[in-house]
Amino acid sequence: MEDNSKPPEETRLILLHQCCAPCSVYPLERLMQDGWEVCGYFFNPNIHPYAEFKKRLECLETHNKTVGIEYSADEAYGLRSFLKTAASAEEAGESRCQACYTLRLNAAARYARENGFKVFTTTLLYSRRQNHEIIASIGKASARTFGIDFYYEDFRRGWQEGVNRSKELNMYRQSYCGCIFSEEERYNKNFDGKLKLPLMVRKG
Ligand code: SF4
Repeated sequence: MEDNSKPPEETRLILLHQCCAPCSVYPLERLMQDGWEVCGYFFNPNIHPYAEFKKRLECLETHNKTVGIEYSADEAYGLRSFLKTAASAEEAGESRCQACYTLRLNAAARYARENGFKVFTTTLLYSRRQNHEIIASIGKASARTFGIDFYYEDFRRGWQEGVNRSKELNMYRQSYCGCIFSEEERYNKNFDGKLKLPLMVRKG
């Protein structure tokens, strides 16, 4: 998969979808080094519970201010619609994470389009724990849908650098991906990856 080259002069502004602060450190550095004028965008209704959502957002806001970029955060917390999307995907035997990427990247592309950005990208491309190829493919599809471009770069190559830097900055580093499902997978030692059937309710 080819990386995009440096930005042409007329399209120096880029919207960066940000999942959290630790995953933003390296992509932000890279984009700014290459001369992009970066604006952050936080849209992550997948994060559970609400206190965790706020904690990740606060940490990201602190970092964005330190780095000196403009950003916008969707604080509406669409938990219910996220849960419906993720649960429907699982029930249909599809990938919950793919549905989650699509939800977030479509929202970022829509926001970019509505706010005059011609290009967008995402910090999800930094994670070694996510499905990188699917994210790149969904990013491109979302960009096409909204008539803008998707900037692809394999930010995973700066994984360790980003981890070290986030520790130096004393950032809050979460221990699970974000949703309630991932929280169970992280902490439930007996989790077998299978769908649980609802409990039977006895009548009378
Ligand atoms: S594990 Fe992560 S990517 Fe997958 S659905 Fe949950 S929050 Fe989204």
